[in-house]
Amino acid sequence: MLMIECPWCGARAESEFSCGGEADIARPLDTDKLSDKEWGDYLFMRKNPRGVHREQWMHTQGCRRWFMATRDTVSYQIQGYDTFKTGHASADAQEGNKQ
Ligand SMILES: [Zn+2]
Repeated sequence: MLMIECPWCGARAESEFSCGGEADIARPLDTDKLSDKEWGDYLFMRKNPRGVHREQWMHTQGCRRWFMATRDTVSYQIQGYDTFKTGHASADAQEGNKQ
């Protein structure tokens, strides 16, 4: 069983999480100027590498927060975690640490 470390809740079974796919995909700012191919690439094309990969995960059956994991797609070993460091998520994390 793959164990995933939620940054807020700690290590839990993979079955508690939902994978949100590849991380670090930014929505294009001026979508009216994109060609159909560029828009299709943004919507559908993903790297799907063999090796180290950054993914988004949600702790669906826990705190329901999103975070990013760096995972090796061959060995399934997770090499690190990141949180989204903006706005509400950071405030919630600090609030949770006080309890
Ligand atoms: Zn959690």
